[in-house]
Amino acid sequence: MESLKKYDFLIVGSGLAGSLLANELLNYGQKILVFEDLSMKSSSMVAGGMVNPVTGKYLAKTWLIEELFGLLFDYYRGLELDFKASFFHQTGLFRPFANEESKINFLNQIEKHQLKDYIKVLEDTSAFSPHFEANLGGMFTEKAGWLDVPILLTKIKEKLKSNDSFNAGKFDHIRLKIENEGFYYEDIFAEKIIFCEGFNVINNPFFSWLPFNPVKGETLLGTIKDYEIKPIVNQGKWIMPLGGDKVRVGATYSWHELDFENTENGKEELLFNVQKVLKTAFEVTSQQAGVRPSTKDRRPILGKHPAYKYMYIFNGLGTKGVSLAPYFVKQLLDFIFQQKDINPEANIERHYALYS
Ligand SMILES: Cc1cc2nc3c(=O)[nH]c(=O)nc-3n(C[C@H](O)[C@H](O)[C@H](O)COP(=O)(O)OP(=O)(O)OC[C@H]3O[C@@H](n4cnc5c(N)ncnc54)[C@H](O)[C@@H]3O)c2cc1C
Repeated sequence: MESLKKYDFLIVGSGLAGSLLANELLNYGQKILVFEDLSMKSSSMVAGGMVNPVTGKYLAKTWLIEELFGLLFDYYRGLELDFKASFFHQTGLFRPFANEESKINFLNQIEKHQLKDYIKVLEDTSAFSPHFEANLGGMFTEKAGWLDVPILLTKIKEKLKSNDSFNAGKFDHIRLKIENEGFYYEDIFAEKIIFCEGFNVINNPFFSWLPFNPVKGETLLGTIKDYEIKPIVNQGKWIMPLGGDKVRVGATYSWHELDFENTENGKEELLFNVQKVLKTAFEVTSQQAGVRPSTKDRRPILGKHPAYKYMYIFNGLGTKGVSLAPYFVKQLLDFIFQQKDINPEANIERHYALYS
Protein backbone atom coordinates (compact mmCIF):
# COMPACT_ATOMS: atom_id res chain seq x y z
CA MET A 1 0.00 0.00 0.00
CA GLU A 2 2.96 2.28 0.74
CA SER A 3 4.01 2.39 -2.91
CA LEU A 4 0.57 3.28 -4.28
CA LYS A 5 0.60 6.10 -6.83
CA LYS A 6 -2.32 8.33 -5.98
CA TYR A 7 -4.41 10.38 -8.40
CA ASP A 8 -7.57 12.45 -8.31
CA PHE A 9 -8.69 11.11 -11.71
CA LEU A 10 -7.93 8.30 -14.12
CA ILE A 11 -9.01 8.97 -17.69
CA VAL A 12 -9.24 6.11 -20.17
CA GLY A 13 -8.78 7.24 -23.78
CA SER A 14 -7.23 10.38 -25.16
CA GLY A 15 -9.17 11.12 -28.30
CA LEU A 16 -10.85 14.51 -28.45
CA ALA A 17 -13.12 13.70 -25.49
CA GLY A 18 -10.42 12.45 -23.10
CA SER A 19 -7.82 15.02 -24.17
CA LEU A 20 -10.02 18.08 -23.69
CA LEU A 21 -11.19 16.77 -20.32
CA ALA A 22 -7.63 15.99 -19.26
CA ASN A 23 -6.43 19.43 -20.31
CA GLU A 24 -9.15 21.13 -18.23
CA LEU A 25 -8.48 18.91 -15.22
CA LEU A 26 -4.78 19.77 -15.33
CA ASN A 27 -5.72 23.45 -15.52
CA TYR A 28 -7.91 22.90 -12.41
CA GLY A 29 -4.78 21.60 -10.62
CA GLN A 30 -6.00 18.00 -10.46
CA LYS A 31 -3.60 15.08 -10.35
CA ILE A 32 -4.56 12.88 -13.27
CA LEU A 33 -3.37 9.86 -15.23
CA VAL A 34 -4.52 9.28 -18.81
CA PHE A 35 -4.40 5.79 -20.35
CA GLU A 36 -4.03 5.77 -24.11
CA ASP A 37 -3.42 2.58 -26.03
CA LEU A 38 -1.24 3.85 -28.86
CA SER A 39 -1.79 0.67 -30.87
CA MET A 40 -5.56 1.28 -30.97
CA LYS A 41 -7.35 3.37 -33.55
CA SER A 42 -8.96 6.67 -32.75
CA SER A 43 -11.77 8.45 -34.58
CA SER A 44 -10.25 11.80 -33.62
CA MET A 45 -7.02 11.10 -35.53
CA VAL A 46 -8.88 10.72 -38.84
CA ALA A 47 -11.69 13.25 -38.30
CA GLY A 48 -12.25 16.04 -40.79
CA GLY A 49 -12.69 18.26 -37.74
CA MET A 50 -15.34 20.40 -39.40
CA VAL A 51 -17.68 22.72 -37.54
CA ASN A 52 -20.78 23.85 -39.41
CA PRO A 53 -23.86 25.24 -37.65
CA VAL A 54 -26.37 24.48 -40.43
CA THR A 55 -26.18 21.15 -42.21
CA GLY A 56 -27.95 18.77 -44.58
CA LYS A 57 -30.35 19.25 -47.44
CA TYR A 58 -33.04 20.67 -45.14
CA LEU A 59 -30.60 23.19 -43.64
CA ALA A 60 -31.13 21.87 -40.14
CA LYS A 61 -29.75 24.03 -37.36
CA THR A 62 -27.34 22.05 -35.20
CA TRP A 63 -28.86 20.96 -31.88
CA LEU A 64 -28.00 23.60 -29.19
CA ILE A 65 -26.68 25.89 -31.94
CA GLU A 66 -26.55 29.01 -29.74
CA GLU A 67 -24.82 27.28 -26.82
CA LEU A 68 -22.28 25.38 -28.92
CA PHE A 69 -21.45 28.05 -31.47
CA GLY A 70 -21.46 30.77 -28.82
CA LEU A 71 -18.58 28.99 -27.13
CA LEU A 72 -16.48 26.94 -29.51
CA PHE A 73 -14.67 29.67 -31.46
CA ASP A 74 -13.34 31.35 -28.32
CA TYR A 75 -12.60 27.96 -26.77
CA TYR A 76 -10.38 26.67 -29.58
CA ARG A 77 -8.74 30.07 -30.08
CA GLY A 78 -7.98 30.08 -26.37
CA LEU A 79 -6.28 26.70 -26.75
CA GLU A 80 -4.26 28.04 -29.69
CA LEU A 81 -3.00 30.82 -27.43
CA ASP A 82 -2.28 28.42 -24.55
CA PHE A 83 -0.31 26.06 -26.78
CA LYS A 84 1.19 28.79 -28.98
CA ALA A 85 0.16 26.83 -32.07
CA SER A 86 -2.26 27.14 -34.95
CA PHE A 87 -4.85 24.39 -35.35
CA PHE A 88 -8.28 26.07 -35.61
CA HIS A 89 -9.26 27.49 -38.99
CA GLN A 90 -12.43 29.55 -39.36
CA THR A 91 -12.51 29.30 -43.14
CA GLY A 92 -16.25 29.65 -43.75
CA LEU A 93 -18.17 27.17 -45.87
CA PHE A 94 -19.61 27.62 -49.34
CA ARG A 95 -22.46 25.54 -50.79
CA PRO A 96 -22.99 26.13 -54.52
CA PHE A 97 -26.58 25.75 -55.76
CA ALA A 98 -26.69 22.62 -57.93
CA ASN A 99 -29.69 23.71 -60.03
CA GLU A 100 -32.59 26.21 -60.16
CA GLU A 101 -34.91 23.90 -58.23
CA SER A 102 -32.55 23.40 -55.32
CA LYS A 103 -31.76 27.13 -55.31
CA ILE A 104 -35.46 27.99 -54.84
CA ASN A 105 -35.76 25.25 -52.25
CA PHE A 106 -32.77 26.52 -50.23
CA LEU A 107 -33.90 30.16 -50.43
CA ASN A 108 -37.27 29.07 -48.99
CA GLN A 109 -35.56 27.11 -46.20
CA ILE A 110 -33.40 30.11 -45.23
CA GLU A 111 -36.57 32.22 -44.92
CA LYS A 112 -38.62 29.54 -43.14
CA HIS A 113 -35.99 28.58 -40.55
CA GLN A 114 -34.75 32.17 -40.03
CA LEU A 115 -31.19 31.31 -40.93
CA LYS A 116 -30.04 34.77 -42.00
CA ASP A 117 -27.70 35.01 -39.00
CA TYR A 118 -25.94 31.88 -40.19
CA ILE A 119 -26.25 31.82 -43.98
CA LYS A 120 -25.65 34.53 -46.57
CA VAL A 121 -26.69 34.09 -50.19
CA LEU A 122 -23.73 34.68 -52.55
CA GLU A 123 -24.55 35.94 -56.04
CA ASP A 124 -20.96 36.67 -57.06
CA THR A 125 -19.17 33.35 -56.95
CA SER A 126 -16.36 34.21 -59.33
CA ALA A 127 -13.77 33.36 -56.66
CA PHE A 128 -14.90 29.72 -56.88
CA SER A 129 -15.27 29.51 -60.66
CA PRO A 130 -11.74 28.27 -61.49
CA HIS A 131 -12.63 24.97 -59.81
CA PHE A 132 -16.39 24.80 -59.38
CA GLU A 133 -19.60 25.19 -61.36
CA ALA A 134 -21.25 27.92 -59.33
CA ASN A 135 -23.08 30.01 -61.95
CA LEU A 136 -26.29 29.95 -59.94
CA GLY A 137 -24.66 31.34 -56.81
CA GLY A 138 -24.71 29.61 -53.49
CA MET A 139 -24.82 29.91 -49.70
CA PHE A 140 -22.01 31.02 -47.47
CA THR A 141 -21.69 30.21 -43.77
CA GLU A 142 -19.14 32.35 -42.02
CA LYS A 143 -19.26 30.53 -38.67
CA ALA A 144 -17.77 27.35 -40.11
CA GLY A 145 -14.30 25.91 -40.39
CA TRP A 146 -12.22 23.07 -39.07
CA LEU A 147 -10.07 21.96 -36.20
CA ASP A 148 -6.84 20.15 -36.94
CA VAL A 149 -7.61 17.55 -34.29
CA PRO A 150 -4.31 15.60 -34.50
CA ILE A 151 -2.25 18.77 -33.89
CA LEU A 152 -4.33 19.74 -30.86
CA LEU A 153 -4.19 16.21 -29.44
CA THR A 154 -0.42 16.07 -29.92
CA LYS A 155 -0.05 19.34 -27.98
CA ILE A 156 -2.21 18.05 -25.14
CA LYS A 157 -0.28 14.76 -25.07
CA GLU A 158 3.01 16.68 -24.71
CA LYS A 159 1.50 18.61 -21.80
CA LEU A 160 0.29 15.37 -20.18
CA LYS A 161 3.71 13.77 -20.59
CA SER A 162 5.51 16.72 -19.06
CA ASN A 163 3.12 16.50 -16.07
CA ASP A 164 3.71 12.75 -15.64
CA SER A 165 0.06 12.27 -16.51
CA PHE A 166 0.32 9.97 -19.53
CA ASN A 167 0.36 6.19 -19.57
CA ALA A 168 0.87 4.72 -23.05
CA GLY A 169 -0.86 1.45 -22.38
CA LYS A 170 -4.12 -0.38 -22.75
CA PHE A 171 -6.46 -0.08 -19.79
CA ASP A 172 -7.65 -3.55 -18.82
CA HIS A 173 -11.08 -3.22 -17.17
CA ILE A 174 -10.83 -6.62 -15.49
CA ARG A 175 -7.94 -5.35 -13.35
CA LEU A 176 -9.93 -2.46 -11.92
CA LYS A 177 -10.90 -2.95 -8.25
CA ILE A 178 -13.75 -0.82 -7.00
CA GLU A 179 -13.82 0.07 -3.32
CA ASN A 180 -15.77 2.64 -1.32
CA GLU A 181 -12.87 5.04 -1.19
CA GLY A 182 -12.09 4.83 -4.92
CA PHE A 183 -10.48 2.74 -7.63
CA TYR A 184 -7.42 0.51 -7.50
CA TYR A 185 -5.55 -0.52 -10.65
CA GLU A 186 -2.25 -2.34 -10.15
CA ASP A 187 -0.09 0.10 -8.13
CA ILE A 188 -2.44 3.02 -8.81
CA PHE A 189 -5.23 4.51 -6.72
CA ALA A 190 -7.65 7.17 -7.94
CA GLU A 191 -10.72 8.74 -6.40
CA LYS A 192 -12.50 9.04 -9.72
CA ILE A 193 -12.39 7.49 -13.17
CA ILE A 194 -13.73 8.79 -16.49
CA PHE A 195 -14.08 6.54 -19.54
CA CYS A 196 -13.59 8.32 -22.89
CA GLU A 197 -13.02 5.34 -25.16
CA GLY A 198 -14.91 6.37 -28.27
CA PHE A 199 -16.12 3.40 -30.32
CA ASN A 200 -14.14 1.02 -28.10
CA VAL A 201 -16.73 1.54 -25.35
CA ILE A 202 -18.33 -1.63 -26.74
CA ASN A 203 -15.55 -3.55 -24.94
CA ASN A 204 -16.06 -1.73 -21.63
CA PRO A 205 -17.94 -4.04 -19.21
CA PHE A 206 -19.19 -1.05 -17.18
CA PHE A 207 -20.79 0.85 -20.06
CA SER A 208 -21.30 -1.55 -22.99
CA TRP A 209 -25.07 -1.67 -22.22
CA LEU A 210 -25.50 1.89 -23.52
CA PRO A 211 -27.28 2.35 -26.88
CA PHE A 212 -24.41 3.22 -29.19
CA ASN A 213 -24.83 3.16 -32.95
CA PRO A 214 -21.31 3.60 -34.38
CA VAL A 215 -20.88 4.93 -37.91
CA LYS A 216 -17.85 4.18 -40.05
CA GLY A 217 -16.48 7.06 -42.11
CA GLU A 218 -13.81 7.49 -44.76
CA THR A 219 -12.04 10.51 -46.23
CA LEU A 220 -9.52 11.05 -49.02
CA LEU A 221 -6.45 13.24 -48.87
CA GLY A 222 -5.12 14.59 -52.13
CA THR A 223 -4.22 17.58 -54.24
CA ILE A 224 -5.93 19.94 -56.67
CA LYS A 225 -3.49 21.94 -58.78
CA ASP A 226 -3.48 25.72 -58.16
CA TYR A 227 -6.20 25.45 -55.51
CA GLU A 228 -6.49 28.86 -53.90
CA ILE A 229 -9.99 28.59 -52.46
CA LYS A 230 -10.01 29.23 -48.71
CA PRO A 231 -13.50 28.17 -47.57
CA ILE A 232 -14.66 24.57 -47.33
CA VAL A 233 -16.86 23.79 -50.33
CA ASN A 234 -19.77 21.44 -49.75
CA GLN A 235 -22.22 19.90 -52.15
CA GLY A 236 -23.18 16.49 -50.86
CA LYS A 237 -19.53 15.83 -50.00
CA TRP A 238 -17.07 18.48 -48.80
CA ILE A 239 -13.67 19.66 -49.99
CA MET A 240 -11.54 21.12 -47.24
CA PRO A 241 -8.44 23.15 -48.11
CA LEU A 242 -5.40 22.10 -46.06
CA GLY A 243 -2.92 24.65 -47.41
CA GLY A 244 -1.14 24.78 -50.78
CA ASP A 245 -2.70 22.34 -53.23
CA LYS A 246 -3.63 19.91 -50.46
CA VAL A 247 -7.26 19.09 -49.69
CA ARG A 248 -9.28 16.58 -47.70
CA VAL A 249 -12.50 15.22 -49.18
CA GLY A 250 -15.19 13.60 -47.09
CA ALA A 251 -16.97 11.86 -45.78
CA THR A 252 -18.79 8.56 -46.11
CA TYR A 253 -21.29 7.06 -43.66
CA SER A 254 -21.65 3.33 -43.18
CA TRP A 255 -23.27 1.30 -40.42
CA HIS A 256 -21.64 -1.96 -41.59
CA GLU A 257 -18.11 -3.30 -41.33
CA LEU A 258 -17.29 -1.23 -38.29
CA ASP A 259 -13.52 -1.21 -38.63
CA PHE A 260 -10.76 1.23 -39.50
CA GLU A 261 -9.95 -0.29 -42.92
CA ASN A 262 -10.00 1.74 -46.14
CA THR A 263 -12.43 0.42 -48.75
CA GLU A 264 -12.62 0.70 -52.55
CA ASN A 265 -16.34 1.50 -52.21
CA GLY A 266 -15.59 4.42 -49.91
CA LYS A 267 -13.00 5.78 -52.31
CA GLU A 268 -15.30 5.44 -55.33
CA GLU A 269 -18.20 7.13 -53.56
CA LEU A 270 -16.07 10.12 -52.62
CA LEU A 271 -14.43 10.40 -56.05
CA PHE A 272 -17.77 10.15 -57.85
CA ASN A 273 -19.31 12.95 -55.79
CA VAL A 274 -16.29 15.21 -55.92
CA GLN A 275 -15.91 14.88 -59.66
CA LYS A 276 -19.57 15.93 -60.03
CA VAL A 277 -18.90 19.32 -58.46
CA LEU A 278 -15.22 19.90 -59.30
CA LYS A 279 -14.11 21.16 -62.74
CA THR A 280 -10.42 20.43 -62.18
CA ALA A 281 -8.57 17.20 -61.44
CA PHE A 282 -8.30 15.76 -57.93
CA GLU A 283 -5.32 13.47 -57.32
CA VAL A 284 -5.69 11.09 -54.38
CA THR A 285 -2.62 10.70 -52.18
CA SER A 286 -4.08 8.68 -49.30
CA GLN A 287 -7.26 7.47 -47.65
CA GLN A 288 -8.32 7.29 -44.01
CA ALA A 289 -11.08 5.44 -42.20
CA GLY A 290 -12.51 5.54 -38.70
CA VAL A 291 -15.56 4.76 -36.60
CA ARG A 292 -17.56 7.60 -35.12
CA PRO A 293 -18.88 6.92 -31.62
CA SER A 294 -22.51 7.76 -32.46
CA THR A 295 -25.56 6.91 -30.39
CA LYS A 296 -29.07 5.76 -31.27
CA ASP A 297 -30.67 9.08 -30.29
CA ARG A 298 -27.74 11.06 -31.81
CA ARG A 299 -26.95 12.78 -28.53
CA PRO A 300 -23.76 12.48 -26.48
CA ILE A 301 -23.68 10.39 -23.32
CA LEU A 302 -22.11 11.81 -20.19
CA GLY A 303 -22.44 11.54 -16.47
CA LYS A 304 -22.16 9.00 -13.72
CA HIS A 305 -22.44 5.22 -13.80
CA PRO A 306 -25.77 4.05 -12.26
CA ALA A 307 -24.02 1.88 -9.63
CA TYR A 308 -20.65 3.55 -8.99
CA LYS A 309 -20.76 7.10 -7.76
CA TYR A 310 -17.34 8.25 -8.94
CA MET A 311 -17.20 6.38 -12.24
CA TYR A 312 -18.08 8.58 -15.22
CA ILE A 313 -18.40 8.41 -18.99
CA PHE A 314 -17.86 11.05 -21.67
CA ASN A 315 -18.71 9.58 -25.06
CA GLY A 316 -21.21 9.58 -27.93
CA LEU A 317 -19.74 12.64 -29.66
CA GLY A 318 -20.75 11.02 -32.95
CA THR A 319 -20.40 13.02 -36.15
CA LYS A 320 -19.98 16.39 -34.44
CA GLY A 321 -17.37 15.93 -31.74
CA VAL A 322 -15.55 19.17 -32.47
CA SER A 323 -18.71 21.25 -32.00
CA LEU A 324 -20.06 19.32 -29.01
CA ALA A 325 -16.92 18.71 -26.96
CA PRO A 326 -16.15 22.20 -25.55
CA TYR A 327 -19.69 22.67 -24.21
CA PHE A 328 -20.05 19.16 -22.81
CA VAL A 329 -16.59 19.03 -21.23
CA LYS A 330 -17.75 22.02 -19.20
CA GLN A 331 -21.09 20.35 -18.39
CA LEU A 332 -19.37 17.21 -17.09
CA LEU A 333 -16.86 19.13 -14.99
CA ASP A 334 -19.58 21.37 -13.54
CA PHE A 335 -21.52 18.22 -12.68
CA ILE A 336 -18.52 16.60 -10.98
CA PHE A 337 -17.24 19.63 -9.08
CA GLN A 338 -20.38 21.69 -8.51
CA GLN A 339 -23.19 19.13 -8.77
CA LYS A 340 -24.76 21.14 -11.59
CA ASP A 341 -27.28 19.41 -13.86
CA ILE A 342 -26.23 17.92 -17.18
CA ASN A 343 -28.49 18.67 -20.14
CA PRO A 344 -31.12 15.89 -19.83
CA GLU A 345 -30.81 15.01 -23.53
CA ALA A 346 -27.11 14.24 -23.01
CA ASN A 347 -27.23 12.88 -19.45
CA ILE A 348 -26.55 9.14 -19.14
CA GLU A 349 -29.48 9.03 -16.69
CA ARG A 350 -31.86 8.90 -19.66
CA HIS A 351 -30.60 5.35 -20.23
CA TYR A 352 -30.49 4.10 -16.62
CA ALA A 353 -33.53 1.86 -17.24
CA LEU A 354 -31.36 -0.22 -19.60
CA TYR A 355 -28.87 -1.07 -16.85
CA SER A 356 -29.26 -4.32 -15.01
C1 LIG B 1 -14.02 9.86 -41.24
C2 LIG B 1 -14.46 10.68 -40.07
C3 LIG B 1 -14.68 12.04 -40.26
C4 LIG B 1 -15.10 12.82 -39.20
N1 LIG B 1 -15.28 14.15 -39.40
C5 LIG B 1 -15.68 14.94 -38.38
C6 LIG B 1 -15.86 16.33 -38.59
O1 LIG B 1 -15.66 16.84 -39.68
N2 LIG B 1 -16.26 17.09 -37.53
C7 LIG B 1 -16.49 16.53 -36.29
O2 LIG B 1 -16.85 17.26 -35.37
N3 LIG B 1 -16.33 15.21 -36.08
C8 LIG B 1 -15.94 14.41 -37.10
N4 LIG B 1 -15.77 13.07 -36.88
C9 LIG B 1 -16.17 12.53 -35.57
C10 LIG B 1 -15.08 12.73 -34.52
O3 LIG B 1 -13.94 12.01 -34.93
C11 LIG B 1 -15.59 12.23 -33.16
O4 LIG B 1 -16.77 12.88 -32.78
C12 LIG B 1 -14.56 12.43 -32.04
O5 LIG B 1 -13.27 12.49 -32.52
C13 LIG B 1 -14.71 11.34 -31.00
O6 LIG B 1 -13.70 11.48 -30.03
P1 LIG B 1 -13.58 10.45 -28.81
O7 LIG B 1 -12.48 10.95 -27.98
O8 LIG B 1 -14.92 10.23 -28.19
O9 LIG B 1 -13.19 9.04 -29.51
P2 LIG B 1 -11.81 8.57 -30.16
O10 LIG B 1 -11.20 9.66 -30.94
O11 LIG B 1 -12.07 7.31 -30.89
O12 LIG B 1 -10.85 8.31 -28.94
C14 LIG B 1 -10.97 7.22 -28.08
C15 LIG B 1 -9.58 6.86 -27.61
O13 LIG B 1 -9.66 5.94 -26.54
C16 LIG B 1 -8.58 5.04 -26.65
N5 LIG B 1 -8.97 3.83 -25.92
C17 LIG B 1 -10.14 3.14 -26.04
N6 LIG B 1 -10.15 2.09 -25.21
C18 LIG B 1 -8.98 2.13 -24.52
C19 LIG B 1 -8.40 1.30 -23.52
N7 LIG B 1 -9.04 0.22 -23.02
N8 LIG B 1 -7.17 1.62 -23.04
C20 LIG B 1 -6.49 2.69 -23.52
N9 LIG B 1 -7.01 3.51 -24.47
C21 LIG B 1 -8.23 3.24 -24.97
C22 LIG B 1 -8.41 4.82 -28.14
O14 LIG B 1 -7.09 4.42 -28.43
C23 LIG B 1 -8.72 6.20 -28.68
O15 LIG B 1 -7.56 6.98 -28.86
C24 LIG B 1 -15.33 12.24 -37.92
C25 LIG B 1 -15.07 10.88 -37.73
C26 LIG B 1 -14.64 10.10 -38.79
C27 LIG B 1 -14.37 8.65 -38.55
